Amino acid sequence: MDTIIDAHLHFAAHEHMERAAAEAGHENTAEHQAKVFRECGIVRGIVMGGEGAPHLPASPTLFYCYGVRSEGLTPDNGGEELAQAEKALADPRCVGLKIYPGYDYSYPSDPKFRPFYELAGAAGKAVVFHTGDTAGNRGKVKYAHPLGVDEVAVDFPGTRFVLAHCGNPWITDAVEVAAKNPNAFLDLSGLAVGRFDPGELYTRYESYWKHIAMWLDYLSDDGKIMYGSDWPLVNLPAYIALMKRVVPERAHGLFFAENAKRIFRLPGLAP
Ligand SMILES: [Zn+2]
Repeated sequence: MDTIIDAHLHFAAHEHMERAAAEAGHENTAEHQAKVFRECGIVRGIVMGGEGAPHLPASPTLFYCYGVRSEGLTPDNGGEELAQAEKALADPRCVGLKIYPGYDYSYPSDPKFRPFYELAGAAGKAVVFHTGDTAGNRGKVKYAHPLGVDEVAVDFPGTRFVLAHCGNPWITDAVEVAAKNPNAFLDLSGLAVGRFDPGELYTRYESYWKHIAMWLDYLSDDGKIMYGSDWPLVNLPAYIALMKRVVPERAHGLFFAENAKRIFRLPGLAP
């Protein structure tokens, strides 16, 4: 069985998560998640969001990125949230911070976020941005455009930045940010949702998947890309099978496991 690390998943007891999980053929529970991980050979998962350690199932396979609470955050009042983030980053299960441009109407370069990049870099941990299309129509996608990450990748060379969802549909722009900046990386989570036949979905949107593969070739660095799912929004066996077709086979070892170990400095895994 292949060894896989899922670099992008969610754990939240919201009604819409229950519904999304059911549509993907899953259950939004820790027990079911652990069972599916075992069946798929997924040895580690990184949970995105503000839930934090207390809300995570007590599983040694799960790590998290602390979701920065940005509502009402300003450069002047950020001290308390910064202290929370610092506390989280001291937890070995916390492997980074998550920032939500697009949902929060602020660019990654907003002065209120800059101390958090400094903090993550000093802790040797990553910062993950939501990039690309937002769920629902309340998001403002100009803030979530991947080019916004370029500015902070340049300004904070000591911090590793991850562009979640490969900036979809701005794949080209996300790839350029990762190609240009040694400290910028991509996760390919959330490019399909629900339950589907991977072969059928591949054929139906073949030009889209080939567009992604073409830009991964352009990137010319298989060390930059990570598998992630967006669990529980997508059926895991189907998404893994789909990604095996989309990502060039030469990169599978790096894409499905090795890069996430390195980029998130996951503890407890042999190199
Ligand atoms: Zn997500």
